[in-house]
Amino acid sequence: MISSGRHNLDMYNTDRTIPRAPLVKSFARAGLSNLYKGSALYIRGRPALRGLSPVVWAIAPQMWKGPPIGPDLGVLRTPLSAHCAGRSPAPPPPFGDLMTWMIRPDAFVAFENEEIRNSLSRYIRVVRGEEAPLFRIAQRIRVDISGGLWKAHEEGLNVMKEFLSGECDLEDQGQISLLDVKIRLAKELARNCRLCEWKCGVNRLEGEIGVCRVRGPRISSAFIHMGEEPPITPSGTIFFSGCNFKCVFCQNWDISQYPESGKPVSERDLSIMMDRLRRSGARNINLVGGEPTPNLPSILAALPLTSEDFPIIWNSNMYMSEEATKLLIGIVDLWLPDFKYWDDECARKYSKVVRYRETVTRNLKIAYELGDMIIRHLVLPNHLECCTKPILKWISDNTPNALVNIMAQYRPEYMARNYPEIDKRVRRDEMVEAYRYADDLGLKWRSVS
Ligand code: SF4
Repeated sequence: MISSGRHNLDMYNTDRTIPRAPLVKSFARAGLSNLYKGSALYIRGRPALRGLSPVVWAIAPQMWKGPPIGPDLGVLRTPLSAHCAGRSPAPPPPFGDLMTWMIRPDAFVAFENEEIRNSLSRYIRVVRGEEAPLFRIAQRIRVDISGGLWKAHEEGLNVMKEFLSGECDLEDQGQISLLDVKIRLAKELARNCRLCEWKCGVNRLEGEIGVCRVRGPRISSAFIHMGEEPPITPSGTIFFSGCNFKCVFCQNWDISQYPESGKPVSERDLSIMMDRLRRSGARNINLVGGEPTPNLPSILAALPLTSEDFPIIWNSNMYMSEEATKLLIGIVDLWLPDFKYWDDECARKYSKVVRYRETVTRNLKIAYELGDMIIRHLVLPNHLECCTKPILKWISDNTPNALVNIMAQYRPEYMARNYPEIDKRVRRDEMVEAYRYADDLGLKWRSVS
């Protein structure tokens, strides 16, 4: 059990049940293999220093005595430059300007990219501390619940939208906060579980399990992820065990298909993890898994217990129920959804889910209302016509301001060998065609793909 005040989750895997060296597993998951070839950790295109990188990350900030390098990313409470000038008695954070510059130079300058600035403007302001994250605003909004929780929720969200557009100030009237209303509603959804589109109807609060087999929140690992898209790296990533999908090519199958893996955490534990990741230099808190949806009640309940301000990233398969998606509105600053399939038959075959397209497109439309968005689409081999092209077309028609990560890194893992058509890497000509099609549609993909 993880106990409060004794976390050191930034740097190592908490899951002792997985028989791999913790550091290696953690950093492999951090996406080092995706680092750009211009990175200082690569020699002639080969990840020659991969094994050393944890050590480098751990000790280099302590040793750095030179002048500050590059612009301040706005992610550090104690910028390295201040420390070097002897103005701060606090030890330097384990991840800082120098580390980001060395490991992910593209992330270092991401906020100067026009495409990113245009699509993620509010997220960037929250990262820099110029605006409050949405969950803090939800904490400030007071609502009257005499007409019922869902009615109060709708009214609270309207107040938030008016506040964000500068049409009103927040008043201290009402019985409870909008965030508290969301927490209560999420617990109600879990009582007769309708957190995701499976709508199993089991009482999760009493320990019953549904399709996802998740009981309470368990964390597989939590660390500063250096392998995400440039604007969200370094990312304070929290991996929840368990998932409501059964993707045959899942790269995180040891987390997603084993909900009993990892360590059980309380809401207080979660809040401490979030604060520590932010203090360690994370631009954001990135909720992922597995899948975060089955843990929504605990995630929401952890937020008022935090003391740091940070943007929330919802890194999800977007198979939430409509009610759960609405609860996330006004909490999530940056949506990071997967859009895997267009053809429902592909979704059934490879992820064992039904009504995929109608569920995900419905939720994407709701999410697009409030919060910035980076949509991820993993191009599967032999799925350009049935999935990739219709998905890109839907994005251009419905969420045109979203950034799109058209991902080429598919590799057959887990049970993909049982499906010959996807038991291979995606071909170069398929990726070229996907990028060409995205250009024809005018999609914003180059800055994050
Ligand atoms: S989260 Fe989804 S899959 Fe899990 S029990 Fe609830 S409705 Fe079922």
